[in-house]
Amino acid sequence: MKAEIIGIGTEILLGQVVDTNSAFLARELANLGIEVYYHSVVGDNTERLTSQLDTAMRRSDLVVMSGGLGPTQDDLTKQTVANYLGIPLVMDQTAMAKIDDYYHQTGREEAPNNALQAMYLQGATVMPNDNGMAVGNFYQQSDGADVMLLPGPPTEMTMMFNHYGRGLLEAAYHRNEFLVSRVLRFYGIGESLLVTKLSDLIDQQTNPTIAPYAKTNEVTLRLTASAEQEAKAKGLLDGMEAQIQARVGDYLYGYGDDNSLEAVVVAGLKDQQLTITAAESLTAGQFQSTLGNVPGVSTVFPGGFVTYSAEAKAALLQIPSEIIEKYGVVSEQTAVWMAKQAKKTLQTDIGISFTGVAGPEELEGQPAGTVWIGIAFKDQTPFGRLIHLAGTRDRIRERSVMAGLDLIRR
Ligand code: ATP
Ligand code: MG
Repeated sequence: MKAEIIGIGTEILLGQVVDTNSAFLARELANLGIEVYYHSVVGDNTERLTSQLDTAMRRSDLVVMSGGLGPTQDDLTKQTVANYLGIPLVMDQTAMAKIDDYYHQTGREEAPNNALQAMYLQGATVMPNDNGMAVGNFYQQSDGADVMLLPGPPTEMTMMFNHYGRGLLEAAYHRNEFLVSRVLRFYGIGESLLVTKLSDLIDQQTNPTIAPYAKTNEVTLRLTASAEQEAKAKGLLDGMEAQIQARVGDYLYGYGDDNSLEAVVVAGLKDQQLTITAAESLTAGQFQSTLGNVPGVSTVFPGGFVTYSAEAKAALLQIPSEIIEKYGVVSEQTAVWMAKQAKKTLQTDIGISFTGVAGPEELEGQPAGTVWIGIAFKDQTPFGRLIHLAGTRDRIRERSVMAGLDLIRR
């Protein structure tokens, strides 16, 4: 099953609008186990759209297009596809009534081209537009590629896909199949190393399929399996996950699309009924702000401290100035003091601290990227972890936060 996606619109071609529709559709098709082989963008031009359509219809089984379903001169997707396939456009009465109603109620004069928005390819399944006027189409062919037409405005497109498009694709291509997927989330291993360690599995993948995806500081793998029974598909996923775990299980921190490292950390703290606070120097609150991404975090996180200067450390955390004079700001001792004083001040179970050199200049003779993370946990002896990070200031601060979250998780 080979699919491709075409984004239609001169504004996309010129870079004035980013093609988020194709990104959305590509992810959704992957979730359905439909492999996307090509993306392309075409301007609002009949000739070039026809040519691209011809290429796409010949090499793919499904062509999904967004844009150009509206009433204006430059909206020509439907007519172009109809001409190419040699089938007429017919009117969807329900959609036409909705358009008439709209103009009736608003008292505007109806433009002749408005009717176009209610037209569909004869024989296609109409997808209503719950957020606009132009209907979508899903046209299946027994002897050629199938075509799905979606509107350009992202709110209309995503709603139409979610309400109708996905179900139509499922019905068309997975009649007797269960499709299950699982997202594995990794931290502390780069995408290239992960992929290298799994290269044979990735090369041989058929069912389940394995799709790696790297974000700023983490890597995810999406496994998708299909089978006649749901339990069997899950079994296939379990088998593949076990093989992956055996090789890179140390780096696996969670599951699911939206399950960020901070969400896993907060869930863990809630489970174990532990509270946390932080004292931050180089990250200046970014750790706490990251925790704040997680709804309901306030039950485990009462608040914390941002302390750059020795004065702030003394005033907010009662850290004696001699400590900082003696050991320096970027030191294990300072990190430990920050963590334990934060914990003591707010009476939490855990205190974490960040002190280091965000750069670009060095500090106290230490290069940018030198970071101490302090951890104070209940009545155990507090300790510091030294990490060396590379990259820009933003990246060093962000990776410090991730490293801190990873320490808490473990
Ligand atoms: P309308 O009825 O609004 O004209 P339409 O289906 O004809 O809808 P277009 O005219 O192609 O859609 O696009 C409308 C707007 O939707 C564009 O100006 C753009 O802002 C946005 N848009 C279109 N295609 C995309 C895309 N692929 N990704 C993101 N935004 C898009
Ligand atoms: Mg338009």
